[in-house]
Amino acid sequence: MQSRFDLIVIGAGSGGIAAARRAASYGAKVLLVEASRIGGTCVLRGCIPKKLMMYASEFSGIWDEAASFGWSTGAAHFEMGRWTEAKNKELARLEQIYAQMLSSAGVQVLMGHARLAGPRRVEVNGQGLEADRILIASGGAPTSTAFTGIEKAWTSNEILDLDQLPESILVLGAGYIAVEFASILAGLGSQVTMAYRGKLPLRGFDEDLRLLAAESLQRQGVKLEPESQMQELQQTGQGFSLQRSGAASLQAKAALNATGRHPNVSGLGLESRDIELDAAGAIPVDAQSRTKAAGVWAIGDVTNRVNLTPVAIAEGRAFADTEFGSRPRQIEHRNIASAVFCSPPMASVGLTEAQAMEQGPVDVYTSQFRPMKKAFVGSQERSFMKLIVDRGSDRVVGIHMLGGDAPEIMQSLAIAITAGATKSDFDNTMALHPTSAEEFVLMREPARRHG
Ligand code: NDP
Repeated sequence: MQSRFDLIVIGAGSGGIAAARRAASYGAKVLLVEASRIGGTCVLRGCIPKKLMMYASEFSGIWDEAASFGWSTGAAHFEMGRWTEAKNKELARLEQIYAQMLSSAGVQVLMGHARLAGPRRVEVNGQGLEADRILIASGGAPTSTAFTGIEKAWTSNEILDLDQLPESILVLGAGYIAVEFASILAGLGSQVTMAYRGKLPLRGFDEDLRLLAAESLQRQGVKLEPESQMQELQQTGQGFSLQRSGAASLQAKAALNATGRHPNVSGLGLESRDIELDAAGAIPVDAQSRTKAAGVWAIGDVTNRVNLTPVAIAEGRAFADTEFGSRPRQIEHRNIASAVFCSPPMASVGLTEAQAMEQGPVDVYTSQFRPMKKAFVGSQERSFMKLIVDRGSDRVVGIHMLGGDAPEIMQSLAIAITAGATKSDFDNTMALHPTSAEEFVLMREPARRHG
């Protein structure tokens, strides 16, 4: 293999792959280095397998619903091992597609652990390589330091690779990963207990959504243990025991550590370029993803800006357009839609009600209803929608939803927010009937006015 490149990318996750391909499309000689498998967290240990598991989980309610619609159905039974096997096959297929795409783009791939080894120099498996530009896209990894014994629990890596569904599980934490897996595992048939230190799950989301997410989890049978001061996770003959201060211990056959992720910087040789980490352990970068070391950039979760796949991809492409395509640009980390794939799912874009109130007078429109399909089968599941409108400009500054198809609906509404749509634009949009999404253009009177 040659040893001089225009660009060496460290990490073949979503961000690294996107940057490498875009740079190569401008004629750059690109080497992509990966220590494990091509695809990274999203494809191999995150978004994709998680969503495939969510699909498996969603079937649990379908048999009962089908009966209400006139179908006769037999007894259904879920086998975790069969799902895992099918998922592994699908991930191998996707990995192959990524490898093929990189090869057709002319990107060279080298398997091994990359380490910065001085200006323009990278070492992989003891081999010295050179590049004018180096891009770190090494992602993140689960954190196992929240309290004593937490390292004994599965992380999101292991939970996606089980042969058997745990009969019962303690989910520790209440962020994206905790809520998604609590909901998915409950749907598949596990007895789930979710212990977390706050009053409500999903800190950072709109308060109404947090409240409704907690109610939905409970409706799914998840036992919530808020305000848990977790002291120690112990392994017992029967499984796990979580010791809490001021409250009884909690037991289950299995435990999932969902207490957060950290930037993956280990063994990167950052000290060789005097790159110091920030308080969160991330690589500090400027708006163009430049680190303080000349010729070294970083994108994605390792920079801990907004830790979402599409953001890493956008940062990677902006870097390549700027450095190799003579199209200097930077990513706006604003109005980024995100979703939590629980049941029903939730999604948001823009400001929460609390954030919007801090910026000036706002009107808040809400709608809560039983969706047609759920009402028909006698389910109590409700959908909730919220529009937050800046009174001065009439611009919609926040949109939130919990209910069927929320992530799909929110992706489209994110365009409206990005385009600066006003409440009048929503009012002037004809409803598409019968849908849930039409409620977003039919809200007339504010539920609350602030300021
Ligand atoms: P989050 O940061 O979302 O949640 C971490 C959870 O762990 C919080 O409930 C936090 O509590 C709790 N926690 C942290 N430290 C401690 C401690 N010492 N003791 C007790 N509890 C603790 O992390 P996740 O791992 O769930 O997700 C990581 C990132 O991955 C997310 O930020 C998101 O960007 C991305 N992601 C996105 C998904 C999506 O888009 N659907 C899905 C999965 C992940 P507290 O809130 O009180 O701090």
